Amino acid sequence: MPLPSPLVSRVGRFLVLHEESFAGVGISSNVYVLREEGSFYIFDASGHPSLLSYLASAGIHGSLISGVFLTHGHYDHVRGLESLRDYSPTAYISSRDRQLMEETVRGYPSCADISDASEVLSRLGLVSIPTPGHTPGSTCFYSPDEALLISGDTVFSDGYFGRTDLPGGSDQDMLRSLDRLSSMSVKALLPGHGHVVSECGSRHILDALSCARGMLHG
Ligand SMILES: [Zn+2]
Repeated sequence: MPLPSPLVSRVGRFLVLHEESFAGVGISSNVYVLREEGSFYIFDASGHPSLLSYLASAGIHGSLISGVFLTHGHYDHVRGLESLRDYSPTAYISSRDRQLMEETVRGYPSCADISDASEVLSRLGLVSIPTPGHTPGSTCFYSPDEALLISGDTVFSDGYFGRTDLPGGSDQDMLRSLDRLSSMSVKALLPGHGHVVSECGSRHILDALSCARGMLHG
């Protein structure tokens, strides 16, 4: 069988494995990879149970993956963890989404709450931001120095935002989260789905906030 060849691009320090790479297994998320001192950190794990093969063909060996940060617990962002069990890098996810994750990935050997990630995130120049609304434990990751936001399914490019009608979703929380994100300076927007924005991310977030104010019930 030919090795999968992921669609890869780069935004700042991040390698982007675009969601189209994982076509064939249903919905998948984008996957972002950051390299720091010889270790790799993964942001979202896609919905592909063989994520590791895709990472390997992008030059990322499982033994060098030091952590996986999950924006939330939906299957299309977490199923790829299955392929990392042999190496079991710590998977960080909000405890409020842990059960949701475990509906897809049962008994992953190394899982921690996102609050335990602050030290490693700070070494990577990042902070986590709780952004409930799409799910109770939805989390964004922000690099103040780069004005770069990994936004999961909270906000996408072109004024789109995550659905709130799935279990655990909340219109009110989504409006509050978008409001919070819109007050931050964002140049690069790296969303869970759709295309990555490398300039003027804040404009996309403001558009999403104004759409949400017209559509959701706060
Ligand atoms: Zn989702």
